[in-house]
Amino acid sequence: MIEHPEFVSTLTCQPYCFSLSGGLTGEVILWRVSVDDKLFSSIVQPFSASDEEIERSACLTCGYPGCGGGWISVRRFGPYVIWFRPFIQLDDLHGASPGMEAGEVLVFDAEQYAEMAGNGDSQALSALSADELKLLILAELPEPDLALYCLPELVGDPRGFKLLRRAQQALWDQVETIAVTSEPEDWIELHLGLDEFGVPECIWRIGKIEFRWAVMFLAKPYLPVWLRGEAIAAIFASIVFADTSEPGAKLRL
Ligand SMILES: [Zn+2]
Repeated sequence: MIEHPEFVSTLTCQPYCFSLSGGLTGEVILWRVSVDDKLFSSIVQPFSASDEEIERSACLTCGYPGCGGGWISVRRFGPYVIWFRPFIQLDDLHGASPGMEAGEVLVFDAEQYAEMAGNGDSQALSALSADELKLLILAELPEPDLALYCLPELVGDPRGFKLLRRAQQALWDQVETIAVTSEPEDWIELHLGLDEFGVPECIWRIGKIEFRWAVMFLAKPYLPVWLRGEAIAAIFASIVFADTSEPGAKLRL
């Protein structure tokens, strides 16, 4: 049984009749879709829980499925359904506008998702592949040279440079070992400052489950579910925190 982190979203879909105008007349059914009670799009082409692609902006001239844009990739990932920006091939760019920003990910509970989308089984949805997971997290991982600081501090490497380098390596070599896991009883939040405009941070929660490291990526990259596996163990294998006097800086395990 996986406990859902607070970042799991709730999907709401409301069908309604849309009147076509222009050359074509008639009515089509579109969906008004909200995520966590905030409007996501009011012109979504209806989809089923097993659809691998969603058309966020239906064509309002003809209403035919596939004529619109704003494409979203949908995959099953453990007990979740995730939405992300499609990884579009260069030969495949004709008119295919993405419906989400790069690095933007939405996570839904698969059961709630299937209930809401109604006309399909989310278990029939394709699982996220190792290559897709690699693209989702590795593509958003900053270059190690950009690391400015790490809080709480790491022994021998206050900037978190080595951590980012190990993460790059492990995610490249062993991404297929990564699986969804439950939330550790205890975790700390790592902040790695980056030498980029506005000094953004990597924000990663890390903790241990049965002596193995687990991580949830909350910023750079963003994939807000708990993950474990050999790749994750390799990233944090030699991690030691420098400052254990600060409350919250120590991992209580
Ligand atoms: Zn059209």
